[in-house]
Amino acid sequence: MKYTYRSTLFAALVATAVCAPALAGEVLVSAAKLLDVRSGKMINDPQVLIRDGRIVAIGQGAAAFTPGPSTTRVDLPGLTLLPGLIDMHVHLDSDPSYGGYTGLEYGDRFWSVLTVPHAGKTLDAGFTTVRNVGADAWNDVGLRQAISEGKVRGPRVVTASYAFGATGGHCDSTFFPPSMKQSSPYNADSPEQGRKMVRELRKYGAQVIKICATGGVFSRNTEPGQQQLSLAEMKAIAEEAHQWGLQVAAHAHGASGIKDAIRAGVNTIEHASLIDDEGIALAKKYGAWLSMDIYNTEYTQAEGKKNGTLEDNLRKDREVADAQREGFRRAHAAGVKMVYGTDAGVYPHGDNARQFAWMVKYGMTPLQAIQAATLNASEALASKDVGVIEVGRFGDMVAVAGDPTRDVTLLENVAVVIKNGDVVLNKVAPAAAKP
Ligand SMILES: [Zn+2]
Repeated sequence: MKYTYRSTLFAALVATAVCAPALAGEVLVSAAKLLDVRSGKMINDPQVLIRDGRIVAIGQGAAAFTPGPSTTRVDLPGLTLLPGLIDMHVHLDSDPSYGGYTGLEYGDRFWSVLTVPHAGKTLDAGFTTVRNVGADAWNDVGLRQAISEGKVRGPRVVTASYAFGATGGHCDSTFFPPSMKQSSPYNADSPEQGRKMVRELRKYGAQVIKICATGGVFSRNTEPGQQQLSLAEMKAIAEEAHQWGLQVAAHAHGASGIKDAIRAGVNTIEHASLIDDEGIALAKKYGAWLSMDIYNTEYTQAEGKKNGTLEDNLRKDREVADAQREGFRRAHAAGVKMVYGTDAGVYPHGDNARQFAWMVKYGMTPLQAIQAATLNASEALASKDVGVIEVGRFGDMVAVAGDPTRDVTLLENVAVVIKNGDVVLNKVAPAAAKP
């Protein structure tokens, strides 16, 4: 996104367990099919046994496990199971219906509160893990804590807290004149300041570091192609983050900013709109992931004006949209590693799955698009907890009617969402879902 004024102003598959007895407190999920996102193969009559939120065994056929008297049975006949989906680029405290200056009508905590319905909509869309790459006022950190305490429904949230960059850059507060001076508390204008920001943000809850390497679409007086952090600054930030065990995500539209971010050791390049052939070669060489939000322009161009988004921001969105989609096609064809990142918050939360169809339109197979939102995302997060239905990982799954490797748009309407072994949405049998 989109660091608008309010940025600162307001603030193993198939364990061959045969007839193992199921224990009390367990959940046994059965379905018609299960997509193994590693091999792309469909498993018939899967049985997934979950204990204390984690998958402990996977079998095939009704006789695979003998459920105990207190085992919760989740039978999903006719449905296909796949891993809970992962969106690597969301902003749960943003609402696209307040464009331009219209958000100034609301107080600081309005945006904090909005994270609650947004998190629920995201979970109900089948996204059981998200990476929140930029929030105001620690909104994402508070939300993560409330979700993990069971106070609020929502996905697992990997938090960046504040995104930061250069003074006057895309991550700064850019919507006000000098007489109403507003600036991000986390601007960094030297390598040393960059290191300091990494330490400060980590101290209060950042689990990934998000920087703005270039200008952007939804800020004022920045251009997407313009590099805003130097190679030296990004190297210092990446080195510091990595020292603390954190990864770095860089907002980067322009070709030079993308390349310097990759050279600096940044882990994921967000948007990557104007990537050139040298950038594609560098991404391959360094193993950088691209997170390209190629759906949201549909929403911005259709609804932005009505929402109060300024014409200059709509102009920038139009200018990068086609180039980004063609860049996606070229990068994927060249074999660059891709994750699923949508910039939800620029378009309505809960519509996260709409990007799958665009990734297929621009060169991926449905399976590759699904892998971007599952297996690849887990690798990019360096997580062995999510993204694949296999023993040891969390019991996070979705179920859909039909075969999403043939029709990826099926993912826009998941029938069942399971998080930690709990059925959190069940459109087939609504009463069976946990409130
Ligand atoms: Zn964003």
